[in-house]
Amino acid sequence: MKTAEIAQRYLTYFEKQGHTIVPSASLVTDDPALLFTVAGMVPFIPYLSGDVPAPYKRAADNQKCIRTNDIEEVGKTPRHGTFFQMLGNWSFGDYFKEGAIRYAWELLTTPEADGGLGFDPKDLWVTVYEEDDEARDLWLRLTDLPDERIQRLGKDTNYWSTGLPGPAGPCSEIFFDRGPAYGIDGGPATDDDRYVEIWNLVFMQYEITDVKSKYDFTIVGELPAKNIDTGMGLERIAFLKQGVDNMYETDQVRPVLDKAVELSGRTYGADHEDDVRFRVIADHVRSSLMLLSDGVTPSNEGRGYILRRLMRRAIRAMRLLGVDGPTFADLFAASRDAMKDAYPIVGEEYDRLSAYALAEEATFLRTLAAGSEILDESVAQTKAAGGAELSGSQAFLLHDTYGFPIDLTLEIAEEAGISVDRAAFDTLMQEQRARAKADARSRKRQLADTSVYRDFRAQGETVFTGYTDLETESRIL
Ligand code: ATP
Ligand code: MG
Ligand code: MG
Ligand code: MG
Repeated sequence: MKTAEIAQRYLTYFEKQGHTIVPSASLVTDDPALLFTVAGMVPFIPYLSGDVPAPYKRAADNQKCIRTNDIEEVGKTPRHGTFFQMLGNWSFGDYFKEGAIRYAWELLTTPEADGGLGFDPKDLWVTVYEEDDEARDLWLRLTDLPDERIQRLGKDTNYWSTGLPGPAGPCSEIFFDRGPAYGIDGGPATDDDRYVEIWNLVFMQYEITDVKSKYDFTIVGELPAKNIDTGMGLERIAFLKQGVDNMYETDQVRPVLDKAVELSGRTYGADHEDDVRFRVIADHVRSSLMLLSDGVTPSNEGRGYILRRLMRRAIRAMRLLGVDGPTFADLFAASRDAMKDAYPIVGEEYDRLSAYALAEEATFLRTLAAGSEILDESVAQTKAAGGAELSGSQAFLLHDTYGFPIDLTLEIAEEAGISVDRAAFDTLMQEQRARAKADARSRKRQLADTSVYRDFRAQGETVFTGYTDLETESRIL
């Protein structure tokens, strides 16, 4: 089943259940403190918080999302993309737990021939919040799930709150069991590689106060209007339904991966590190294309900086696969062809969008060339002075001033037969990070945060620094 068809089945099903189908909002939010739409919930925040009356009782959508928080996972787990699509259904004071559970189960287990997603109930597990007996009883009553496949978990995984007074409530998550080849028995509580989370149901049930932390607060009482917020990962359903191992091998992503394989002349499936690189490239190229199509352009701050990092990481990964020349013309075209049916703008505006990508690639390739020259000089000087180690400050300067990645410095130094004072480099990086954190803290204090959705803001804000990203880069690539 193609990705687009899964989305269509979801929306058709919920339309039949009286939901208004709402188009995806942009990846770029209206809220400057939140960089990107990180979940299907984001565009509905005003309705969920009660600030604005919802224009419908029930809605469903297929929301484009960007989660840079998951960047470390990309290519390593089967299920994390920086861009992905979250299918969601929403009840604003209408149906509650029973409806949400009934609909989710019916859509997942109805045979494909009858318009459902055709999962075998035996492959499904769920988790509920440990004190939510109501949800547990509903799963038992409304589905064929035996008690052993309903696991009770704590607040850290199965409770939604914002960390501020306001709405909160338990969650119930649905998992697919990929079987013993992928990990140990024991359910989602023990293994998230074998048991893949596919759908998250949030029951917005309580009003909370006296909030000491996200997980330590006092319940004032039940909300007068209880809401349902759900999110199902389209790419996760797609990879499970398409019988492939991960989301990067699904129909909307795989063509980019294949193109990278072709350009590199290497084989996919032969070497783990290379495979991670291929998947990172496929993910990052697609995310970049989707960000460009929502009006983000590469720059040195905020959203544009994230886009720049994604493109540069893809370029670095290609280089580590042995390709030094430009590849974006081919990679972006492959992504366009895979995405344009679902997002026509990607095809219609392709020339304009890809021009940014090609310019970014040309600039970064020049940076790499210039950095290599400076590095070559430093290496020559070190050797001439009888040294065998490049100093940490030289490596840091290359990184900080020329944007020259540390792993590349290590690679080139190694080729030249000298080492790098990595410990000193790391110390300098840590100092820089501490400075950035202090800056971010003072910036935060300046922002009068009136939103009850601070956790999303926090997610958005972490990406301002970019340092985790840089740090990650040397680990992944
Ligand atoms: P996980 O625990 O696997 O990281 P999550 O609990 O962070 O997932 P939610 O915030 O509950 O995910 O998002 C709702 C749904 O969106 C998930 O059940 C999953 O199907 C999908 N999803 C979340 N993050 C990603 C991602 N980075 N890439 C692809 N799909 C995702
Ligand atoms: Mg997650
Ligand atoms: Mg989870
Ligand atoms: Mg979840």
